[in-house]
Amino acid sequence: MKTLLINDDGIHAPGLRAAAGALQEAGDVVVIAPDREQSGVGGALTLRNPVRAREVSFDTVPSGNGTSAGKITAYAVEGTPADCCVLALEKLAGPVDLVVSGINSGSNLGWDVMVSGTVGGAVQAFVRGYPTIAISVGSIRDPMFGPAASLLTALIGRLKDWPRDRQLFLNVNVPSMALDRVKGIEFTRLGGRSYGESVREEGIGAQKRYWINRDRPMAQNPETGTDTWASKNEHISITPLHIGLGNPDQIPQIKDLLSGLSADLLDSQASSPADASPGSLLDPG
Ligand code: MN
Repeated sequence: MKTLLINDDGIHAPGLRAAAGALQEAGDVVVIAPDREQSGVGGALTLRNPVRAREVSFDTVPSGNGTSAGKITAYAVEGTPADCCVLALEKLAGPVDLVVSGINSGSNLGWDVMVSGTVGGAVQAFVRGYPTIAISVGSIRDPMFGPAASLLTALIGRLKDWPRDRQLFLNVNVPSMALDRVKGIEFTRLGGRSYGESVREEGIGAQKRYWINRDRPMAQNPETGTDTWASKNEHISITPLHIGLGNPDQIPQIKDLLSGLSADLLDSQASSPADASPGSLLDPG
């Protein structure tokens, strides 16, 4: 088993080392991570500048089992998590069996997965057909990565039974606490907004600028069965993801709202003499 490991907290993040230690038990690991903190960049790609990657030495945090079968190769990338994933899968890593993103410091819950660099980077693996796991720990202050690393080991053990041609994209959130204190494991759906933004203004006139902070907790009473609910109640949440913002159920409503639009816009244009096409101007008249 060979794994590609990415993250959004950067190549020096302790959660990345913990994940590498767990994954190394199962085989080789290629670590390709941003050279600096990139949390909150979502699925952004660097398309208008070249992206540098340099091979670096990398020390894992050994797993509890103390076994390390695989070898580690690591690259630091001047780019986003999605850059790392694309670079890895198209150039640097060679064939892999699994892609893991994390272990992130701080939970990634509900609609907030849209701004998460942990999930945003992982998307590039999922769309290429790789089994993909994004994993986060629910604390940014002194997070405990050991329990999440143990869960990663357990998940990999189960993946052997998963058909190669079946898609898999899991968003996993683990409470920052010893496993014997965790209340249980929930298989969940995404909740709504988890954190909202506040904007602070500073300076005046041309010096005016704004700070955007994601500091307003939104999920005060999350619905049962959501990842936000599980997290709030000290459960591990495992949320299957797919890609799909499409909302086909609403097509009838939108058809109703916009009925006659085609006639108004397209048919009237076609018959408008002011807008006659060059072709019609050439018609002998
Ligand atoms: Mn992060």
